[in-house]
Amino acid sequence: LNPIHIVGGGMAGSEAAWQIAQAGIPVVLHEMRPVTGTFAHQTSDFAELVCSNSFRSDDHENNAVGLLHWEMRAAGGLIMEMGDRHQLPAGGALAVDRHAFSAAVTERLTSHPLIEIDRAEVSGLPPADWGSTIVATGPLTSASLAQAIRAATGEESLAFFDAIAPIVYADSIDMSRAWFQSRYDKGDTEEERTAYLNCPMNREQYDRFIDALLAAEKSEFKDWEKDTPYFEGCLPVEVMAERGRETLRHGPMKPVGLTNPHNPTEKPYAVVQLRRDNALGTLFNIVGFQTKMKYGAQTEVLRLIPGLEEASFARLGGIHRNTFLNSPRLLDGQLRLKSHPHIRFAGQVTGVEGYVESASMGLLAGRLAAAEALGQRLDPPPFTTAIGALVNHITGGADARTFQPMNVNFGLFPPLEDARGGRRGRKERYKAYTDRAKAEFTAWLGAAAQPGGPAAQAAQ
Ligand code: FAD
Repeated sequence: LNPIHIVGGGMAGSEAAWQIAQAGIPVVLHEMRPVTGTFAHQTSDFAELVCSNSFRSDDHENNAVGLLHWEMRAAGGLIMEMGDRHQLPAGGALAVDRHAFSAAVTERLTSHPLIEIDRAEVSGLPPADWGSTIVATGPLTSASLAQAIRAATGEESLAFFDAIAPIVYADSIDMSRAWFQSRYDKGDTEEERTAYLNCPMNREQYDRFIDALLAAEKSEFKDWEKDTPYFEGCLPVEVMAERGRETLRHGPMKPVGLTNPHNPTEKPYAVVQLRRDNALGTLFNIVGFQTKMKYGAQTEVLRLIPGLEEASFARLGGIHRNTFLNSPRLLDGQLRLKSHPHIRFAGQVTGVEGYVESASMGLLAGRLAAAEALGQRLDPPPFTTAIGALVNHITGGADARTFQPMNVNFGLFPPLEDARGGRRGRKERYKAYTDRAKAEFTAWLGAAAQPGGPAAQAAQ
């Protein structure tokens, strides 16, 4: 069997290498550290955790990232096995001893008979004669490779910074205050004319909101992020407010072209608009609200918006140095670059965010590439599972025009279809989601090519 090449030995590349080698297929893992460094990595170990040492919640019954842990464990994931082995006490979260964790991943990969390590930067698009290749070079992809990807896919295809507006669960918005309407009822279809959710403010509410926004605690850019460009089109909401108290009212919060059906006679002083963030209609992003406010401050400030008093956030806003593809446009459902199908992408560069999400996309890309090499057909798991929901979002569910990185959350899952459907309390609903996911992920694993099967034995 020809080897599968993997570029990048971070969270995703390490997991992909493990999955492929365990399927009996040789791997060449290209990692540029320590020959070439990044701004954030400190060691030459694989799967280095560049910041926090937490894999977040380990609650696989009520939490989407906990469910992702469960699925990765069920699939024999190396990252979870080593995370569990080097766990530190952290309540309901899974925190790890970062050095022991990365050293253990490194030891497993370097001692695997089917994994060859190449410590070198891959500075151009992997050539076709490498055959099947997975690019998992992460948020700090080296400049030369990033330029090569841009040259192959187009200027708009690869971003170097994210500008994330907070995302709200639709079912947590108070519809006795908010209403659906596009400005000036624009659009050819009813769906287009009602594409936005509007939250109105009177003058007093607006003033209180601006005061809170200006006073909120903000995160600083890291030293190596200081050149982060603020594009005029996506200035942080608080920077807009600093330019003048009325700036937002003339920008993303302008109250024109809208009529509040709950109070048709009073013109709102300002309106916050939310736009559908996924095809399912379960998530809405707050338009123009990309922000550097600290997370605690964000929830406080955003809940001042009428209609969002009880909002639950699928993700909060942020602006970071982050290299990521416009995956909904560029990748097929197998994580392959449509224009160069010998190349798959995995990890944070696909537009998922977080250690666990990135590793899960490595696990999936590894399994998909392994199946392809063995001449087997493997589809991603159904989108009722955490891994399936994530890959469905980045390759199809999200809108390519406004695509920004996403972490796993229940808003990405299709609604429950049984007779009780959404008429459950939140906790019961999440448990129903995770029960359904576990059953369907187990079935998917059963049907998929299994590590240690006949092909694996033949190759060893
Ligand atoms: P990485 O883990 O970054 O791995 C990519 C690998 O590719 C690296 O080892 C790099 O050296 C290598 N590489 C890059 N270019 C090339 C090339 N051309 N040739 C060969 N090798 C190459 N997530 C969290 O969940 N929690 C956090 O607290 C957190 N903090 C973060 C802080 C910072 C400063 C940054 C930048 C990111 C942070 N993230 C955090 C996101 C986190 O980096 C990712 O979730 C995760 O590490 C991504 O995994 P990955 O495998 O896609 O990329």
